[in-house]
Amino acid sequence: MVAIKNYDLYINGAFVPSTSGERFDARNPFSGEVHATIAQASDAEVAAAVAAARECFEQTWRKTSGLERGRLMHRLADLLERDADPMGTLETTDNGKIVRETRAQMRFVARTLRFFAGYCDKIYGKVIPLDRLDHFDYATLEPLGVIGIITAWNSPIALLGNKLPAALAAGCTVVVKPSEHASVTTLEFAKLVEEAGFPAGVFNVVTGDARTGAALVEGGGLDKISFTGSGVGGRAIAQAAGRNLTPVILELGGKSPNIIFDDADIGKATVGALAGIFAATGQTCIAGSRLLVQRPVYDRVLSGLVERAERIKLGDPLDLATEMGTAANEPQFERILAFINSARQEGARLMTGGEAARDGALAKGLFVKPTIFADVSNDMMVAREEIFGPVLSVIPFETEEEAIAIGNDTRFGLASGIWTTNLNRMHRVSSALRTGMVWVNTYRAVAAQTPFGGVKESGYGRERGEEGMKEFLATKNVMINLSEAERDPFAVQT
Ligand code: NAD
Repeated sequence: MVAIKNYDLYINGAFVPSTSGERFDARNPFSGEVHATIAQASDAEVAAAVAAARECFEQTWRKTSGLERGRLMHRLADLLERDADPMGTLETTDNGKIVRETRAQMRFVARTLRFFAGYCDKIYGKVIPLDRLDHFDYATLEPLGVIGIITAWNSPIALLGNKLPAALAAGCTVVVKPSEHASVTTLEFAKLVEEAGFPAGVFNVVTGDARTGAALVEGGGLDKISFTGSGVGGRAIAQAAGRNLTPVILELGGKSPNIIFDDADIGKATVGALAGIFAATGQTCIAGSRLLVQRPVYDRVLSGLVERAERIKLGDPLDLATEMGTAANEPQFERILAFINSARQEGARLMTGGEAARDGALAKGLFVKPTIFADVSNDMMVAREEIFGPVLSVIPFETEEEAIAIGNDTRFGLASGIWTTNLNRMHRVSSALRTGMVWVNTYRAVAAQTPFGGVKESGYGRERGEEGMKEFLATKNVMINLSEAERDPFAVQT
């Protein structure tokens, strides 16, 4: 029996109960046990959180110096590093992602906080020389205001870490709505924000299902919304936000092509292909779920992949030796198995996996065996839809042009991978692929400094890097007339 923790909402620097009276369970997808209960926020509490964030923005945070904002962010990074292991353990308990990954993600979020902490006192404007020398002009960068952050269940803190540091550095305050399937670490994160000494109201958390997200988006009072989740959720949010004219950043799904050319280092490429799809149980938006392999090396790559996939150690996500954990929740588990069945019916050749793993210690967990389909054609559903699970579609190709055409033949455009030793090809193909990110001879490598985001139905806007910072800043132009001359009131001044 685990001790069950009951979490309230975090509004204006304090944990407060929900007046809705509704609570829902946080369930460990490995053991099936409930380990926490979460409050379902009512619309009134969502509004209170937005009001607290607004008040703090106007009265405190926008007036806090960059030096002080940076200092607080570094302190938060210290605390997250201090607690990276227990926070990782908790996230793993909540969503089944292996602890090797969740702990590393906590440290990466601390790194991202430090990157953006460095921006806080360097948000410079510019002086703009005009045609009229008797006018002086400058443009400043100002914080946008209150930001609504809505995240998915696969990596709650890592997704928050893609958004929050830039928002805080810019001088914005936030209201976060984590996924109903994985809320606890975001609430624990609130305790670290408080311990770091941030003013009350900078960081607020409202928990609940899509109704809570909708209340946040539709209630108004936000200056921007940053969303990570499904295309269905993204569309609903963009439409609702549009009615309030609230701008949005959308980080949605992907069906990323990972392309192995016959001149590649096949050993490294095979490991990269594995990392692309079986890391995080494939429950990542950047999963390299379509593996395109050039004919001359097709059989070799396939047999290497199958051999390694069959040795992947499934097990308790809290065990450091485990390589692949569970699906994060029951609906996701069922969805993955349904896609596997559809691939079979469509005639894809099953090389390994293809079913749930229920033996021995895995019995209670939502495990799906690492699954590889060969001879997939790009028009099959398994190659077109985002599965968000450990299911790889291997697609053969003959020429570079064909690889590019197949790679781009998708409604998504988040990430792509290229494996080649040919320098010219690296540049040709990375230029031709319509994705927001391209990895060459690596896959699923991340950095605080680099822009993250997609094109096409993978969304719009960018996170991390300088581009991530700009998302939360508004440019203000100030034009000053220095002359004593009278103007013509009926003609525009140029
Ligand atoms: P989801 O869209 O169902 O839910 C995401 C969040 O939005 C949750 O907090 C949910 O409660 C909320 N929500 C859902 N509908 C809403 C609505 N109408 N109004 C307001 N809020 C709403 O997505 P999910 O199943 O939690 O996450 C999986 C998806 O996330 C996958 O498609 C995956 O590709 C995507 N994802 C993208 C990235 C990225 O950075 N591009 C990263 C991770 C996951």
